[in-house]
Amino acid sequence: MAKDYYNVLGVDKRASKDDIKKAFRKLAHKYHPDKGGTDEAKFKEITEAYSVLSDDRKRREYDAYGQAFPGGSAGGAQGGSPFGGFDFSQFQQGFGGQGVEFDLGDIFGDIFSGRGGRQQQQQTPRGRDISIDLEIPFKDAVFGTTRTVLIAKVSLCSLCHGTGAKHGTELEKCTTCNGSGRVHETRNSILGQFTSVRTCTACDGTGKIPKEKCPECKGHGTLRKQEEIKIHIPTGIDNGEMIRMQGQGEAVKAGIAGDLYVKIHVKPHATFRRDGTNLIMDLPVKLTDALLGTIVPVETLEGKTLEVKIPPMKRPEELLRVAGKGIPIDGSHGDLIIRLEVALPHKLSGKAKKTVEDLKSEGL
Ligand SMILES: [Zn+2]
Ligand SMILES: [Zn+2]
Repeated sequence: MAKDYYNVLGVDKRASKDDIKKAFRKLAHKYHPDKGGTDEAKFKEITEAYSVLSDDRKRREYDAYGQAFPGGSAGGAQGGSPFGGFDFSQFQQGFGGQGVEFDLGDIFGDIFSGRGGRQQQQQTPRGRDISIDLEIPFKDAVFGTTRTVLIAKVSLCSLCHGTGAKHGTELEKCTTCNGSGRVHETRNSILGQFTSVRTCTACDGTGKIPKEKCPECKGHGTLRKQEEIKIHIPTGIDNGEMIRMQGQGEAVKAGIAGDLYVKIHVKPHATFRRDGTNLIMDLPVKLTDALLGTIVPVETLEGKTLEVKIPPMKRPEELLRVAGKGIPIDGSHGDLIIRLEVALPHKLSGKAKKTVEDLKSEGL
């Protein structure tokens, strides 16, 4: 059953963001369960409608596809969250459960004028992802290689291994959060009492703080430094492809490191180009060789010499295929494809000219 979000908020389809916000605020005041416990379902409905219509992208999707898009339904919002003691973080996760970011902070921040609109979700902290560009020669892209790069990033402190404690000293219970890593905040507002849970900033959510701080990282557990990272580039990687190195992004205390993304740029080769798993090259041959056939040495990408037989009367548009000399991917090889280029002489001797004239009289 598709809901009409515009109807739910009582606004026109062309309503501005401002109008939508105003309409939601009005309804939120009216239906908030703490404000007389009227209608929990209705409150959820308007919140859902607002979460979609206040977000330009989601609104466009909704306008285009109706409710059948990810994040359109707010089924997860229930999650045992008693509306009496409305747990903000749970509520947010209910919406965000499908990977759709949902920021109520914007509007509730307004209504409650509380500190920092957006609430922090209770999940393991994750370091930032890093992306770098890496240019490699054509040959390395075909056969694979290993590269070591130097990256400046936030890493775990190697002196204290990320604990933040001075060597030989211990960690003790964080007094700010009493060791739980979380701080509960209860705020009173005209709509009732809101409890939110945030990560304790004193201990970064670990529940422990060092008795004595590590002198290297000043107790943070992480610090910015240059790190050498070895990148394994697989065989047959193509220009523009991305390598993801899990956990090689920035570190975060008591959390998961982000990922490193390496975007590969392949330098063009003077002789070879690529078509899928095949290598293609142009091979100039003399007119007489093209007519009579010959054997020519061809240097492969690996640097080996191949004797390639060119049959007589081979036309340039008929490609020569050397099986298995292409790009090795997943245990199989593509082919080397040779396109002949017939090179005409720049000038003819009197004798040669006479011969060509004889050919001409033969009708060639
Ligand atoms: Zn703490
Ligand atoms: Zn340290």
